[in-house]
Amino acid sequence: MRIMQASGECFPYSKTGGLADMVGALSKALAAKGNEVQLVTPLYRGILEKYPDIRPLEWDLDLSLGDRTVSGSVYYLEPLKNLTIYFIDQPDFFHRPGIYGEKSEDYSDNAERYMFFSKAVVNLARYLPQPPDILHAHDWQAGMVPVYVQHEHFRGGWHPAPKTCFTIHNLAYQGNFPSTAFELANLPGDYFSPHGVEFYGQLSFLKSALVFADHLTTVSPRYAREILTEEYACGMAGVLQARAKQLTGILNGVDYEDWNTTSNPHLDYPYDAAHLDGKDRQKKKLLKQMGLPSNRKAPLLGVVGRLVDQKGGDLLLPALHATLDLGYQFVLLGSGMPHYEEGFQRLAKDYPKQVAVQIGYDNALAHKIEAASDFFLMPSKFEPCGLNQLYSLKYGTIPVVRAVGGLDDSVVGLEEDPASADGIKFSEYGVTALESAIRKAVEVYQDTVLFNQLRQNGMAKDFSWERTSEEYMTFYQGLLNPQRQ
Ligand code: ADP
Repeated sequence: MRIMQASGECFPYSKTGGLADMVGALSKALAAKGNEVQLVTPLYRGILEKYPDIRPLEWDLDLSLGDRTVSGSVYYLEPLKNLTIYFIDQPDFFHRPGIYGEKSEDYSDNAERYMFFSKAVVNLARYLPQPPDILHAHDWQAGMVPVYVQHEHFRGGWHPAPKTCFTIHNLAYQGNFPSTAFELANLPGDYFSPHGVEFYGQLSFLKSALVFADHLTTVSPRYAREILTEEYACGMAGVLQARAKQLTGILNGVDYEDWNTTSNPHLDYPYDAAHLDGKDRQKKKLLKQMGLPSNRKAPLLGVVGRLVDQKGGDLLLPALHATLDLGYQFVLLGSGMPHYEEGFQRLAKDYPKQVAVQIGYDNALAHKIEAASDFFLMPSKFEPCGLNQLYSLKYGTIPVVRAVGGLDDSVVGLEEDPASADGIKFSEYGVTALESAIRKAVEVYQDTVLFNQLRQNGMAKDFSWERTSEEYMTFYQGLLNPQRQ
């Protein structure tokens, strides 16, 4: 199969979150299985300098954006057999300090930027000498892609057009813009209706994809069920219910080439399930690096992630305040909403021997925290898949999670099945529930046998993309041959 992926970010070239990891790893795994994979993503500032093998493609983009024509160009890289990455270059749009914005503020012209990107993707899909069979777009930044494929297929003579699939990585990010942004689409006016790209008077990139893609997927089976309910649908329940038969949940995998403990350039001490002394040494080293005293008796609880409401920041701070007298240590790496950043920094000042906080983005430190921690906290309000709990399991770090979305699908809680448990789970979204889970973690740490059993169970789990990519291939085959489904 020839499969084109379209995404606003892709690891290792650009990343703000799990989307980048997923798109990069899925593409690699599909290519390794003999599919021809084309991945299209913006050429953000700094990528060319970091990857000098990226070459210009002889390809001019002159794309309408409302009443103006915006030019761009395309670069490409073939990092692996069967994988070509196409980078869309438009310096005014993409050579900026941030990806989607700066200092917690979105760029004000994101509608222009990602409308241009979506049009560029479709331009490549239609006119490349080797057009794709499947066009797989991800999240709102590529949300207009399925609209253009349908439009050009039904009204522009594109035969055969690729089948389109759209993956929802997070329904909370919708790319909604004032109705005036519809002009940028250069589509006939009838598209701007409740049955089309309009969402309560606005242009919604995400809703456009939900309506026009041939099939929808999301990144865990439980999230696929949750988003059919008002509580989790972020206003899109009606649209999603209408497409429930074309909505599939496939749990994300992990790229173990990047996320492993045995040959990882970001870790100082390799280790595996049978040799955990490297993990102890990594813990000692991290504590020192983060300015905390070493204390064998104290479990280390870690957090890495975006500091936003979704991730349960409003639970974490009060629950930590209420339980730090248990004597554990806590490290956090993250950035996001200023009041959370300040709250965690204050906590570190108040508990200098127990709490260390680094505000910012640091991939190497993320690996070190995953490896050094005994427990990893993810009290999310909602979690489409979540990757950090999957990394934690592999790193022998026991995840403490709220039973929601992909967290529920990937972690077995002690109370569910003590023999196969690899984590600690709680259900209610509340401070008291998280406090109890933290208390449970401290208790488990003191019970060496149980602690090791949870660890070993987690390390034995396999969430490799090798397996998960098979699910996508079966799903793509079904899209191409619907009669076989
Ligand atoms: P989301 O995509 O909602 O942010 P995920 O758990 O799916 O959450 O993926 C987050 C990814 O981003 C993980 O690979 C995580 O390690 C990484 N990450 C998040 N924040 C940071 C940070 N401040 N520094 C380094 N890596 C981070």
